[in-house]
Amino acid sequence: MVLNIAMDGPVGAGKSSIAHAVANRLGILHLDTGAMYRAVGLSALRAGVDLADEAAVTAHTQSIDVSVAQGENGQRTIVNGEDVTDFIRTPEVSMAASTVARYAGVRREMVAIQQKLASSTPMLVDGRDICVRVLPHATVKLFLTASAEERARRRYLEMQQKGDPTPYEDVLRDLRARDAQDMNREVDPLRPTEDAVIVDSTDMTFEQVVDHILAIVEEKNHA
Ligand code: C5P
Repeated sequence: MVLNIAMDGPVGAGKSSIAHAVANRLGILHLDTGAMYRAVGLSALRAGVDLADEAAVTAHTQSIDVSVAQGENGQRTIVNGEDVTDFIRTPEVSMAASTVARYAGVRREMVAIQQKLASSTPMLVDGRDICVRVLPHATVKLFLTASAEERARRRYLEMQQKGDPTPYEDVLRDLRARDAQDMNREVDPLRPTEDAVIVDSTDMTFEQVVDHILAIVEEKNHA
């Protein structure tokens, strides 16, 4: 059986960087599914699609080609042949991603691509619905979280380092808004499945989280 690791969690839990480090240590690929919803959000914004119009967003998603490639520093996300990796991390695109991700038709398209990729290649897949929808039979299921304040603090420090002056209060407010939208949507809302191991990183360092997850993988893989 192909080794598949499913990792879900809320905004700013450190999923992407933790997933990247764990996948590297295991010598497997890391698929960042959030980047794919971000790519759809960006593409819809650029095309002037009304994000509140489910039918229009779904039709737009069906008309574009979203794919991923392995770059030197991790995943590159591609829409219709254009590498959009450097344009999908703005607050506007974050919120657009969360909005388009509410729609069943959009999710169906993305889940199909993700399942195809993971079916033949060992990978660690991170997102919001991986344990419940994308890889319900994953070898290891994880739910990575931390308190909202700690997640906002990490995101704030990251943004400061990049020269972004957004105040902490705004970062926390945006994070809570996106959490609420992700957890309260009708289709596959973010929540830990019963068979997922919950990893609360609030009081853990980056390395501690990576080592802890590697120990869980080791244990499950040999169970
Ligand atoms: O993980 P990231 O913050 O990049 O994800 C952006 C948005 O994409 C999330 O807020 C969520 O709404 C959506 N998403 C999702 N399902 C996934 C991954 C991301 O709904 N598997």
